[in-house]
Amino acid sequence: MPCIKCGSCCEGLFVPNITEQELFSRDGDPSIEFIQQHWKVIAQEEGEQRASWVHLSKSVIYLECDQFDLDLQVCTAYEERPYICSGYPFYKGLSTKADALPPKCGYRKECDDNG
Ligand code: SF4
Ligand code: SF4
Repeated sequence: MPCIKCGSCCEGLFVPNITEQELFSRDGDPSIEFIQQHWKVIAQEEGEQRASWVHLSKSVIYLECDQFDLDLQVCTAYEERPYICSGYPFYKGLSTKADALPPKCGYRKECDDNG
């Protein structure tokens, strides 16, 4: 099932297994300026509340994107969004386990099937 545009992955934005410094300074990433401009790290506790489905043993950085409209639950920068967003949840193996995806996410079945 494709993306059903539930907004959960934007509201509960996180990136696993990377340091804050690495995330904001990746040479050669064409999306880096967008990420530097629009993403900010939020407190672990708040992130865990927003992304309560995340049960990863890896270290996780929780983030907030100022391009996400909380009321409408939509991305307001859809055409310019980073590859990490447009490739979600398969960007570089970011979340290939269904239990790392929001409960409503339409990709859960596909991730389950991929193991
Ligand atoms: S750029 Fe859009 S898709 Fe990416 S996190 Fe922000 S609101 Fe979500
Ligand atoms: S959580 Fe899944 S279904 Fe919901 S917006 Fe993100 S990719 Fe789409």
